[in-house]
This record gives sequence, structure tokens and C-alpha cells, in this order.
Amino acid sequence: MKFLNDILIVFILCAILLGVMTPSGSARFERTMPSLGGPGTSQLTPPTSFPKELSLEAAPPSGYVDPEIFHMLSKMGRIAIGFHAVQPKETLASIAKQYDTGFDYLRSSNRLESTNLSMRKTLVVHNGKGMLHKVSVRKGKLETLSEIARRYNQSKESIVRANRLPGLALLADGWIEAGQVLFIPNAKLRFIDYDLPVAWARGKRFLSSGFGMRRHPILGNRTFHRGWDLPRPHGFPVKASREGKIIFAGWNRGLGNLVIIKHAGGIRTWYGHLSSIAVEPGQNVRRGQLIGRVGSTGLATGPHLHFEVRDRYGRPLNPRKYLL
Ligand SMILES: [Zn+2]
Repeated sequence: MKFLNDILIVFILCAILLGVMTPSGSARFERTMPSLGGPGTSQLTPPTSFPKELSLEAAPPSGYVDPEIFHMLSKMGRIAIGFHAVQPKETLASIAKQYDTGFDYLRSSNRLESTNLSMRKTLVVHNGKGMLHKVSVRKGKLETLSEIARRYNQSKESIVRANRLPGLALLADGWIEAGQVLFIPNAKLRFIDYDLPVAWARGKRFLSSGFGMRRHPILGNRTFHRGWDLPRPHGFPVKASREGKIIFAGWNRGLGNLVIIKHAGGIRTWYGHLSSIAVEPGQNVRRGQLIGRVGSTGLATGPHLHFEVRDRYGRPLNPRKYLL
């Protein structure tokens, strides 16, 4: 059935903030206030659970929910949360798109250090630009809305609004409970994905030319330098900045011996002026794997690695944002 083919969710606790499907929203303030005294007495190891009012009661049979519902709810400005069983060949980017969220947000919500999904069975998914946070007990104390807002550098108001908490939650603690999952608008985690492809070498500068406009060392004209020049001794090992697939390994007029690796999310890294190449096109490489050696092939004044980070459209990005 086409319907089932489209749907990759094994089970869903699909959630919408405050009864999207109930037109009256009558359940809105029915939740009982957690006790304001001694927080967390019976909740020291809370299970992951979504608040009752987030459950999508109108879920199609046996928990299968069409991702289209997430799109519909996005248009209504509502957040939905559910689970997704990863299928072969799916990527974080394709799943994010399916649920109307972004790669970074989905990754943040699942705290995925590696974006390689092959070993992962189930992801928590949601729509909207932001990430999920599970309210927890720290050092015996339930964290407060103020603490959560501060941690993600967001306002309490925006969290209250996104999660449809009562306005009173701005004034008093006790409206959130351990194990509750909150949607934090605009928040995402920063992951360090790319390692420096060459180690530092004694007696060499770290960087001889950065990203941006410069006078070309050979041609003499002002051009945009699309990456970093890292001066290193001839023959110095060059390593894959991150796991990925070799999409180019060969000769380039300006960059000499060049290797290009495609990574998760469509990012590509370029390694130019190599004296030798240790990989072949189509090959998968691990992070830190030797891909070649420093040289001065192509237009280069001396041995250095020319390193670039580019997006899926080929636009050069500042490596600093990806390495440090
Ligand atoms: Zn360069």
C-alpha cells in the first residue's frame, strides 16, 4: 500500500502542543500541578515521556502517522513529536525534510555525535526549527524553566509559547516535570564535525593564508581565497577531516593533485597541492584516514595544504566555523 510505504514510523507518540485535534482545547488546563514542595521525590529516574497533552489522539491505526501531518501542523504553527524507525539508505537530511525540520535541529534533538545513521534504530522526530529538551533532575533538584531558557540562550516566553504552557509558568515553578519533553525554539547544539587535516609542524606557521580576499601569491591579482593554506613540510601526512566518500582524486590545474571528500549533509572538503594521493574515487574513508601527502603541485609557491570546506552547492565556507 502506498500509504504504508510512505510511512516509516514504527510507533508514534505523536505530539502536538495542546490538543491540536481537539477544536475546543478543553483539556488545556486540566493537568494537575506537580507538587511544589520537594521536587522529584518519586521521579529520580524519569522515563522519556511526552506530556499527555502532546499525544496525538487522532493518530491513524496502530500508531502509524503520515509525516504529512507534521507538515500540516507546521503550517498551523504547532509542534509535533514522534518516533521514526531509520530505514536503509535514509540520511539525517532526508528524515529531517520528511518531518519538516532541519538537519541540525534533528541532530541536536537526538544528540547525534555521528551523523552516520546505519547503527541507529529509532530517532525522535519533530517538526519546526528548534530542538527537544528533556526536563531532568540535577543534583536532586528539578531544573526550572529559567535554567533551561538560560542554557539554550532563549527567552522563557518563547519556550512557554512554543509549548503552550500556561502563562503562570513564567511566574512560578512547578509547571514542568521531570521527564517532560519541551520544544526549545531556535535552539540547536554545536557539534565539532571536522578535524584539522594536517597536524601542526614545528617551525611552520599554522596558517599562511586564510579565507577571504587576498592578493594571489603567484598571479598577483586580488582574488577570493576559498580556503586555508596550511604550510607543512613536503610529504607531511594529510588526513580525512571527517568520514565520507572520495568524489574526486586527481589533477586540477590550479590545485595540482586534489582530493575532494563528500560528507554527511552534503558538505565537501577539498585537499589541494598534494605531492601524492593515497585514495581513489568512490572509496569511503574514515575520519583521520591518510588520503595523501603535502606537496606543492599546481600553482603553489611552496609545500602547503590548500584546504576548503564547501556546501552542497559548491559554495566555499569558512573552515573556521567547521574546525574550531
Ligand atoms: Zn590556497
